Amino acid sequence: MLVIEYKTKGNQAQYQAIEEAIKTTQFIRNKCLKYWIDSSREDNINNAAISRYSTVLRADFPFVAALNSMAVQAAAERAWLAISRFYDNCKNKKSGKKGYPRFQHDNRSVEYKTSGWALHPTKRRIRFTDKKGIGEVKLLGTWDIHTYPVKSIKRVRIVRRADGYYVQFCVDVECKETVPFTGQEIGLDMGLEHFYTDSNGHHEPNPRFLRKAEKQVKHCQRKIYKKQKGKNGRKKARNRYARKHLKISRQRTEHAKSRARHVMQSNDLCVYENLQVKNMVRNHHLAKSINDAGWRQFRSYLEYFAQKYGKVALAVEPHYTSQQCPDCGTMVKKSLSTRTHTCKCGCVLQRDYAAAINILQKGKEKIATSGHGGSKVSSKKKSRNARGVGTATLSGVTLTEQVLTMSLESPCMRDRRVSNGIS
Ligand SMILES: [Zn+2]
Repeated sequence: MLVIEYKTKGNQAQYQAIEEAIKTTQFIRNKCLKYWIDSSREDNINNAAISRYSTVLRADFPFVAALNSMAVQAAAERAWLAISRFYDNCKNKKSGKKGYPRFQHDNRSVEYKTSGWALHPTKRRIRFTDKKGIGEVKLLGTWDIHTYPVKSIKRVRIVRRADGYYVQFCVDVECKETVPFTGQEIGLDMGLEHFYTDSNGHHEPNPRFLRKAEKQVKHCQRKIYKKQKGKNGRKKARNRYARKHLKISRQRTEHAKSRARHVMQSNDLCVYENLQVKNMVRNHHLAKSINDAGWRQFRSYLEYFAQKYGKVALAVEPHYTSQQCPDCGTMVKKSLSTRTHTCKCGCVLQRDYAAAINILQKGKEKIATSGHGGSKVSSKKKSRNARGVGTATLSGVTLTEQVLTMSLESPCMRDRRVSNGIS
């Protein structure tokens, strides 16, 4: 599944219509959720029941009827996605909060399936044909959606961002590329000091995009509170602030993507730790740095490229990787501040370097004992990543919202951030 994204250009009335459609989507989702909350257990509300209820909504509310029928279905599916996730968490006895579905107030996207839109046969334009009145908008970008058969486009989404509206096409094509096998294997130790340290002793510097722009971001944030509530000036200030965060998140994405691509191109096997970022961000001193490092994103890109190039990305449990001696296997206890691994056997290594070697070793052992190729692991991990739980504490409105919207996507849209703009 490939996702192609364009920025759109339309007029004010069209943007208004897009807003309408986005609001309607949220309305349908929340109504369906209310329907589920209000029904008794005996009613046994499932996906089909919610889907049926959405047709009732169409009859009751003219503005719902104006939205394409499959888009209404897609909005109802969002409610079911939230409900089923809650059910799953309860069934699997997930520790902590189970994520009881909540009403949404900050939806920023509308999703069409295979109807309600038509591509211009030659130009980069798309026409939305339902009664929301969006009409034809230009698609800005260098991608060519026309090279794919229309039948392979399974979903079309319109997303609002701080700097405008975007149209995403979810194309059902196998995304594979052959790169030569190099015979190289690598273990990665994710850290704060360095973005990662690999088992060859290379330290990848941490870009810290948020830290670098922090002064500007804070400045923009303060400006918001100086403006009067409900006034246009405040809206503008908020937008400026959101754009700053958008820029940082894009830088981070680009960085993670390029690093992950590089790693998977030059190695056949990549092993990394199965870190629970969600638990780690509870440490508030580290929270910002951890989020900024964007490990989770980096990891999902590793998995994406592994799949694309037909290589193996594998996560191992992080226990003792920083304590064990890579040479003789003895445990050498050390605190977080001890940066060097020194063992009685004469092995002296930089701490992260030693950990990376252990991680690679663990990964090889795992493959030797279970004999799997890793692809199963990565697909399982991907669906977990797609929920975007770990980064809910990201500072800044935009990012938090972005993460939230990510979790609302229907399953086939989940690969969005992974495959965006990858040639
Ligand atoms: Zn040793």
